[in-house]
Amino acid sequence: MSTDRDWGDGTRCVHAGLPAPVPGAPLLPGPVFAAPFHLDPEHEGTEPDTYGRTGNPGWRALERAIGELDGGTCLVFPSGMAAIATLLRTLLRPEDTLVLPSDGYYAVRDLVRTELGWLHVREVPTAGPWPDTVFDRAQLVLLETPSNPGLDVCDIRELSRRAHAAGALVAVDNTTATPLGQRPLLLGADVVVASDTKALSGHSDLLLGHLTVRDADLADALRHARTVGGAIPGPFETWLVHRGLATLDLRLTRQAENAAAVAAVLRHHPAVRAVRWPGLPDDPAREPATAQMTRFGGVLAFTLADAEAVRHFLSRSRLVAAATSFGGLHTTADRRARWGDAVPPGFVRLSTGCEDPDDLVTDICQALEGLGRPK
Ligand SMILES: *Cc1c(COP(=O)(O)O)cnc(C)c1O
Repeated sequence: MSTDRDWGDGTRCVHAGLPAPVPGAPLLPGPVFAAPFHLDPEHEGTEPDTYGRTGNPGWRALERAIGELDGGTCLVFPSGMAAIATLLRTLLRPEDTLVLPSDGYYAVRDLVRTELGWLHVREVPTAGPWPDTVFDRAQLVLLETPSNPGLDVCDIRELSRRAHAAGALVAVDNTTATPLGQRPLLLGADVVVASDTKALSGHSDLLLGHLTVRDADLADALRHARTVGGAIPGPFETWLVHRGLATLDLRLTRQAENAAAVAAVLRHHPAVRAVRWPGLPDDPAREPATAQMTRFGGVLAFTLADAEAVRHFLSRSRLVAAATSFGGLHTTADRRARWGDAVPPGFVRLSTGCEDPDDLVTDICQALEGLGRPK
């Protein structure tokens, strides 16, 4: 079913990628498990599917769904990193220059350093400054906004314009925002990359990633790279993501409601400093976020006195699970310095889930009791 442009987010999510109704057929067809499919010896080349590395009906349904939400042609991958790695390997050649956020997802910097050592890399903090020299002779600019874990925001429209003027393509890691929070292709970017392991699938039970592009030739090149590279998602995972995607609007709404309630108490709490959530009225990212985002989601960050204070907080809370990743049904929190992010030892990324706001706030306040004021 095609998406009507006037539909609201809830309707778009519930109906995204679904086939036209057929009596006797399911609303969302189940996963198709096949390595080879039956061929048609009489009409070679007319089969919709031939072999499971090349295509699968469930991938196409999910790609239709995410493509509708992102506003482009979507390709799914077995993880966010598989999507990013395929993008970089497809677009970049030895001695090319890649611009990366210095404060973005750590595994991307690790990938570039260890596996793509033939690239020239310029790292820029998401909040800038972004001098013109950054774009000079660059082939690709990868933005991540809001950045993970610092939740800084950069201006996609402005940076895309400047990157294009310098001849570079722009990819935006849209994991934190999701296609309901921000549509980078409409803001001028060429590529959306995302980890759907997080809010888009939303149930903390699988990994998946995707790329969405506007250009048909680039879509073909990326599809070919996936086919020959072999980094393909499983049919069961893509079906689960399609099922979970239907509630994205509901989940994000509750997560943002919880994030607003939690941020409001944390910012006045004596044991907490440096609360960051783009939805806070005085957050440094509020203005650029409001200009390009339609909602702020459930990921926030704050700093406690030290690593010991974070241990105290996580072991006393009953509702905040100590877990990395974010965007799931359950509230989780993670001390980011343990993964090597350049943040203070007491820096916490907290992802609000779909619990009731009052329960969550009460639990978080009691878990912070007895903690000293951070320096
Ligand atoms: C998690 C994450 C990734 C990597 O995704 P995986 O699905 O874990 O491979 C990339 N970018 C951001 C911003 C992420 O949060």
